[in-house]
Amino acid sequence: MTIYQNLIAGEWIGSDATKNINPSDTNEVVGLYADGSAEDTKNAIAAAKSAFPAWSRSGIWERHVILKKAGDEIMARKDELGALLAREEGKTLPEAIGETIRASQIFEFFAGEALRLAGETIPSVRPNIGVEITRDPLGVIGIITPWNFPIAIPAWKIAPALCYGNTIVFKPAELVPACSWAIVDILHRAGLPKGVLNLVMGKGSVVGQAMLDSPDVAGITFTGSTGTGKRVAAASLEHNRKFQLEMGGKNPMVVLDDADLNVAVEAAANSGFFSTGQRCTASSRLIVTEGIHDKFVAALTAKLETLVVDNAMKSGTHIGPVVDEKQLKTDTDYIEIGKKEGAKLAFGGELLKRDTPGFYLQPTLFTEATNQMRISREEIFGPVVSVIRVKDYEEALATANDTPFGLSSGIATTSLKHATHFKRNAEAGMVMVNLPTAGVDFHVPFGGRKGSSYGPREQGKYAAEFYTSVKTSYTLA
Ligand code: NDP
Repeated sequence: MTIYQNLIAGEWIGSDATKNINPSDTNEVVGLYADGSAEDTKNAIAAAKSAFPAWSRSGIWERHVILKKAGDEIMARKDELGALLAREEGKTLPEAIGETIRASQIFEFFAGEALRLAGETIPSVRPNIGVEITRDPLGVIGIITPWNFPIAIPAWKIAPALCYGNTIVFKPAELVPACSWAIVDILHRAGLPKGVLNLVMGKGSVVGQAMLDSPDVAGITFTGSTGTGKRVAAASLEHNRKFQLEMGGKNPMVVLDDADLNVAVEAAANSGFFSTGQRCTASSRLIVTEGIHDKFVAALTAKLETLVVDNAMKSGTHIGPVVDEKQLKTDTDYIEIGKKEGAKLAFGGELLKRDTPGFYLQPTLFTEATNQMRISREEIFGPVVSVIRVKDYEEALATANDTPFGLSSGIATTSLKHATHFKRNAEAGMVMVNLPTAGVDFHVPFGGRKGSSYGPREQGKYAAEFYTSVKTSYTLA
């Protein structure tokens, strides 16, 4: 089998490899992907450092052309790349193609942004002096990504980093190297100069750690778990480097008595269970007022009965497998914890057997949960959702905000008053009214508050806040 190698200083290298396994069919090896070392990472950082002066001064048309070519190729290959994504991560083929299209749109967006780089000219308070405010690229950016969005998250970090003139060392999650390899290959062939984008696949504890330990990495953008995020933060403070963290969530969705029942059920089923609940924006806490509670639980349970859990590549599958054995164990451990804590298992909770061996788990719904239970406070990152009964809107809002996280927060209501109040008072970076808590646009800011995020927002024009440093220049006329 071919080994998909790391790209360091414009050369494909690496002979040690790790198997990429399909979670829908554990007999299938998706491919062999290089297992980089700390030495490889150092070499990649050195290559990115030496490529920085030229790339940071490259013309905006060159950056536009490369980013646009990448976006166009990803779109042209959306079915093939979507299938690769579904095979390595386990989300359904339509979800995987959708994610691939989004990656293409992100490259197209930043291809446009490259042509819109601008500064400000402001008169000084002193006579005969002019002030210019410009943005400089940071230097070498370390990109560390998780397994749950194997093409979109790399795209939304790589595209702005290149657009604003930075060079990159990119370490994707070990579980899903295939889509990352594909976009690096596309960008390399699109004409990026040697060393501007370096790919080092391998273990977080080796490759990721070598990036954290390097004084030559000027900025680290990280998406992943809270635990690893704290390590990124501590190491970055040590090196006085800029960092950005997107981490976990325990996103609430409030359902009020006046909600449209169908809208509420569709939004809850989508945000809680699609993509196997493995989205940082998934709603794992459904906070339901007592007047609609029983009707809502009955309708949601009926909806869950109709959802097909099967191989991600099969047409008709609504929910693919859990990503791997370790995550499956986390999910089933939390199901046991929920039962022991006294929540009622209203649906699911069982492992499933399908034609191909994989990590199949029923969508799982707990009712009679409280907001203090571990299943309501800790991120599970699987298709496991709890319903918390509350008296009224005020208690619902207080419960929604009573969490260490603050990524996305949703409400299902037909009341303009409650929707408006909730948008103002939800302690989250993103608020959804009558929509799933997951599912966001590619051209507007993404990110959270409290324990979910640290640093500037990602995506859209707000991405410039992280990938550039503001400079103020004064000139005597
Ligand atoms: P991890 O934190 O385990 O891994 C994230 C990345 O960090 C991986 O590439 C991993 O490498 C790497 N890593 C691990 N150890 C180190 C280290 N010591 N130094 C540097 N890098 C390291 O998260 P998961 O991949 O398990 O992703 C799931 C988590 O991500 C969930 O908690 C989820 O909420 C969060 N997430 C947040 C999002 C957001 O935008 N807020 C979006 C998507 C996910 P390796 O591959 O070897 O493990």
